[in-house]
This record gives sequence, structure tokens and C-alpha cells, in this order.
Amino acid sequence: MANQEENLFKNVIAHAKEYGFVFQSSEIYDGLSAVYDYGQNGAELKNNIKEYWWKFMTMLHENIVGIDAAIFMHPTTWKASGHVDAFNDPMIDNKDSKKRYRADQLIEGYIEKLEEKIEKEVEKAAKRFENFDRSMFVSTNARVVEYQKKIDEVNDKLKEAMGSGNMEAMKQLIIDLEIADPVSGSRNWTDVRQFNLMFSTEMGSVADDANKIYLRPETAQGIFVNFLNVQKTGRMKIPFGIAQIGKAFRNEIVARQFIFRMREFEQMEMQFFVKPGEEMKWYEHWKEKRIKWHKALGLGEENYRFHDHLNLAHYANAACDIQFDFPMGFRELEGIHSRTDFDLKSHEKYSGKKLQYFDPETNQNYIPYVVETSIGLDRMFLAVLSSSYKEEKLADGSERVVLRIPAPLAPNKVAILPLTKKDGLPEKAQEIMNSLKFHVRCFYEEKDAIGKRYRRQDAVGTPYCVTVDHQTLQDNTVTIRHRDSMEQERVPVDSLKATLTAACSVNNILERI
Ligand code: ATP
Repeated sequence: MANQEENLFKNVIAHAKEYGFVFQSSEIYDGLSAVYDYGQNGAELKNNIKEYWWKFMTMLHENIVGIDAAIFMHPTTWKASGHVDAFNDPMIDNKDSKKRYRADQLIEGYIEKLEEKIEKEVEKAAKRFENFDRSMFVSTNARVVEYQKKIDEVNDKLKEAMGSGNMEAMKQLIIDLEIADPVSGSRNWTDVRQFNLMFSTEMGSVADDANKIYLRPETAQGIFVNFLNVQKTGRMKIPFGIAQIGKAFRNEIVARQFIFRMREFEQMEMQFFVKPGEEMKWYEHWKEKRIKWHKALGLGEENYRFHDHLNLAHYANAACDIQFDFPMGFRELEGIHSRTDFDLKSHEKYSGKKLQYFDPETNQNYIPYVVETSIGLDRMFLAVLSSSYKEEKLADGSERVVLRIPAPLAPNKVAILPLTKKDGLPEKAQEIMNSLKFHVRCFYEEKDAIGKRYRRQDAVGTPYCVTVDHQTLQDNTVTIRHRDSMEQERVPVDSLKATLTAACSVNNILERI
């Protein structure tokens, strides 16, 4: 991370704590690594993101329904899904710095550097030549061709080592590429070891292996094991989807990037069941739908890009990420995976129960194929928070920190502020608040000068402030101040409800998709 980005990230993290968005878990005991709590404003923002996702999935699509499955599942679930045997990350330690890394990420970092070099060459050439043809350039420029050859070679070796679980080959690759510890610069590495990411515990009073169960590492399996329950009771016809929001747990090896990579986090997943052979059509369909959902929020179209997976997971026949430009650069925000019939087929095998769909159109039974969209709620939270965070210099020379959170996602929609604490203004302000609080989330405050109160609302992202002054008592009008433009206008109290509910409803954004 460049210095400027590192500082920005630090400021966002400090701001999140100072204004009640995110706290380190168990902070009074010095915290628990990679576990976080959401504060009073964070919980609201998180709920609003959930609402935006849940409504999009289950209200805008008549063939998608939502469920809420338990975190604990029968342990065979995780045998069938492949998690017991294959949900491993390769881990490596540096003997000098004592830092631990994911071996595959060290190698991917090497590839990323080569990709950056290619981009630099392309940028330089694009400035030099008129009618610049990118594909022509990258296929003919000797240096770029060399970089690309190296990338392909390393990718192939990484894929081979990951696929076969060959940890010695992985270590050899790190040595051959002369990859150094980013912290100490040392190349003194331990062997690479496989590390299973699932947390386990025992169910019941007897602690032995037979009672071992897992905290789910993804919400998807709760959907798969309920596939027939939902299909039958909901009389669902293929294609149809099942959506779910819930906690997931992974004992991540490296968890250093605030809420980007946590050990306890929340996922919003949707499994879409389709006719075998039609999965690629639906994969493309969901790629397009999901990117539209993101872009409709207005966080900046340039902040998103697709990234195709080269190393496909054991269950997938196509997969990509939607990446977001976080303060530490473009990283995965959401995964879109064509999971074939792997999960349902495997659950059929392990449970001995048929998990098939009877297609009334063709009079055939089949195991559906699945296209999954899976987004981390906490990463979405970080995307909203980090892209909304602005340090601004104002025309009068002063500065402010403002969270330009899209109004429907903001923790509070309106702050009701009596200009002074006397002359009946607080009573009038309370009366206005009482008329609005059923419709939009309000915040009331009467302490400090009005300018100071505006700044505090800017810092938590409240899109509107309503100021009640002496004129209000005479003509029932108030000043409404807009967070982003800082403009103020005089409006009748009676117009507030309609204006605010319209501007702050999630439906507003959903209509744009
Ligand atoms: P990564 O490569 O970053 O580890 P992944 O490919 O393992 O992620 P998936 O298994 O596809 O992730 O999970 C779907 C989504 O869940 C991810 O796109 C991400 O938003 C979220 N997610 C996964 N792991 C974590 C985590 N440890 N903390 C927060 N969110 C996570």
C-alpha cells in the first residue's frame, strides 16, 4: 500500500471507532484478533445494507425466496461439501520476522507485480502513440510478452501445486521466484503446511470426536440441505433462487485488514437453481445483475471491476469476483460462481436422500445446477464506509470530515436540531420529531452551537439536518441543510415527511437497477 492509501485506511479505521461504527471485539481485554463489534451507527448501516440486498433479491425477483438456516449443521454436511478434506489454506512462516503468510497469496503478489509492470508499459505507450491499439501492443512488445509468459508459467505452477495439494512444489516456487517477506525482506522460510480453516466445537456434554461439529464456514450449505424443503413447500419452479443472510466463521491464517478479513463475519448468499446445461447463461445473467446492484448505489462506477478466477475451486466450472477499490487497492467484494451440481449431488450421496427436481415440462427428474452470488456484508460495509469518507477543505478555509453515505444507507436520515434550548424551540423540535420518527430514523440534539452540531452529523453521514428556530414558531417552516452541498433551504414542516421518506428509501435505489 502506498503511504497516502495507508494513511487514508488508518483514518477510516480511526473514524469508524470514534463515531460508533466499528469497535475491536473485547477491547477492554486488549481485543480478539480479527473479530469486531459494530457500534450504534455501524449496526444501523449494516442493517440498511442488508435491507438493500434482501429486498433486491426477494422482492424484485418473484422466483427468489429467503431463508434463515442454523449456524450448526450435521457434521456430515461438511464432509459432503468438501470442507473437511479440502477447505485448507497453505500457510508459511518467515523464520526471521516470525510473520505468517498464505503461501498462495505470496505467489499471487508476485504475479500482481508483473501485471502492474505490464500496465505501466501500456500506459507509457498509450501516451506515446496516437490510435493506440492495446491488444496489438501487448501481443508484440517484447518486454510485455516476456512478463506475460512469466505470469502464465507461475500461474500454471501455482494451479498445479494447489490442485494436487503439493506443498513442497509450492515452497519450491517461492524459493525459485526469490519471494521475500514483505516485512523483513528475509527469504528464510519454513515449509508450507496445509491448514483447515473451519472452527470446531463439541455438541452436548461429552467432549469426544463423535460429537465434533463445526461453525459453518459459509451459509450456502444451509441452503443446499433445504433445497427440497423450500422447493416443495414454496411450489417453486426451476429456475428459482434461495437467499440467505447469516454469520460464517473461518480461522483465517492472515487477518490483518480490519473488517476486510475477519474470523467471524456475515455473508449474503443466493443460490440459483437452474436446468443442467443452462448454467452459463444464468452465470452471465447474474454477473450483470449484481454489478448493476452495486453501481446503482452511486459509490463510483470506476471502483468496480470483474476478475475471472484462473484456479477454479473443486466445485466450480466458472467463477469470477466483483472487486472493489478498497483503500488497500482492488480486492474481492463478491464472488459469482457456477457451482455445477456438485453440492446437491454430494449431499444425495452422503445422506442417501434424493435431492432431485421433477420438471413438469419435460417429465424428467434431475439434479439442478447452481449459480451462486456470495457477498461479504462486512466487506460491503467497508466499501461503503471507505468510499464515503472524505476529508474536505471548505471555501472559508475550514475543514470537515464527511461520510457521503448514500442517504438510504445512512445510519440516521435526519437530525432535528432546535437552534436554542429555550423559548419553546425544544418542544417544537420534539413535536416535529414525533411526526417523522415512524417514517425515517431521526436523531435529536440540542447541545452546542449549530455549526458544531452540523459537523458531527456530517461525520456520521446524516444526509439532512432540520433546524428549528424562532421563525418556525410563527410560520411552521424549518431550515433543511443538505450534508453534501451544505446548502440550506426554508421548507414547510408539513412537507418534511414526504421529502425525507422519498429521498431516504432503499426503494429509490432499487428502482434504478
Ligand atoms: P478470499 O479469497 O478473500 O479469502 P474467498 O474467495 O475465500 O475470499 P468466498 O468463499 O467466495 O471468499 O466467500 C464469499 C464472500 O464472503 C467473499 O467475496 C467475501 O466478501 C466474503 N468473505 C470471505 N471470507 C471473509 C472473511 N474472512 N472476512 C470477511 N468477509 C469474507
